[in-house]
Amino acid sequence: MRKLSLLIIILAISSCSKIDENTLTIYSSRQPQLIEPLLESFELETGIKIELLTGDAPQLLQRLKSEGGMTQADIFMTVDAGTLWQAASEDIFHPIDSKILEENIPSYLRDSEKRWFGFSKRIRTIVYSKEKVDPQNLSTIEDLASEKWDNKLCLRTSRKVYNRSLLASMIDNLGYEQSKSIVKGWVNNFATPVFSNDTNALKAVADGPCHVTIVNTYYLARLLDTGKYDQLEIFWSNQSNRGAHVNITGAGVVKSSKNKLNAIKFLEYLSTKEAQDIYASLNYEFPVNTRSELNDLIKKWGTFKEDEIPVERLGKLQRQAVKLAQEAEYF
Ligand code: FE
Repeated sequence: MRKLSLLIIILAISSCSKIDENTLTIYSSRQPQLIEPLLESFELETGIKIELLTGDAPQLLQRLKSEGGMTQADIFMTVDAGTLWQAASEDIFHPIDSKILEENIPSYLRDSEKRWFGFSKRIRTIVYSKEKVDPQNLSTIEDLASEKWDNKLCLRTSRKVYNRSLLASMIDNLGYEQSKSIVKGWVNNFATPVFSNDTNALKAVADGPCHVTIVNTYYLARLLDTGKYDQLEIFWSNQSNRGAHVNITGAGVVKSSKNKLNAIKFLEYLSTKEAQDIYASLNYEFPVNTRSELNDLIKKWGTFKEDEIPVERLGKLQRQAVKLAQEAEYF
């Protein structure tokens, strides 16, 4: 009898710890519908249950900092290398040694100190109106500062991290002063005040006073998918020099996670060809795993040259980008 009760206690303890080990908590700033199908297939494949807590990136980052070692979070997932870099500089992540992640994700799309990894690419490039613009006149984002675009250019606010990262890539390539004079040229060419989001900038190119803008391509894909914005066309910028601007969505394992092995297992799963096919195409993004398939809609846009600046540079240059935007009066 005593043996039996001991066995029951042991079973109870092991099943308790099993429940704990078999649950992963993800803090994510991505929209839940863009990640949930993958969480379900991971749960099915491994038996590991996932709790998802979504919110905006600054809120989640603040929460992670205030929870400290007590946090339930095992993984922090967010968008933009600028945000990932900030999280890393605030000591949120635990570095990971994983051959699988290193094989599946090109080195320019992950942190050199192994604290975070990119899981999809987002390209920020030129979109124009076919009714208003001859694409022969388009070339680089720098050229949008030239006089021929006077009163024709529209942009989203520089307060959005996407544009700070874009400016960071210019600073890295052209230096601070040259980048600043280009941004001043953009501001001079504005047809409207800045927009709060990429979608509104696109709509103002389609139906408003704008001829050309710079956006993340998935916003264009979403509008094209409605069938109502056929006048919008993509243009791969900077093909004659550094290539079109690349940013990422990404994730890392939280420093105080009690479940690091399963957390790593999840990130490795996200980098596989099968998961990448789904993860990238759910939001019309580009997979980081080169064996993965492109979504049909974005496949039609053809191949293009990418700016292969290590995305961590976009993080390191955020502060300079903010200062530059202020000085150029791009708000
Ligand atoms: Fe976005």
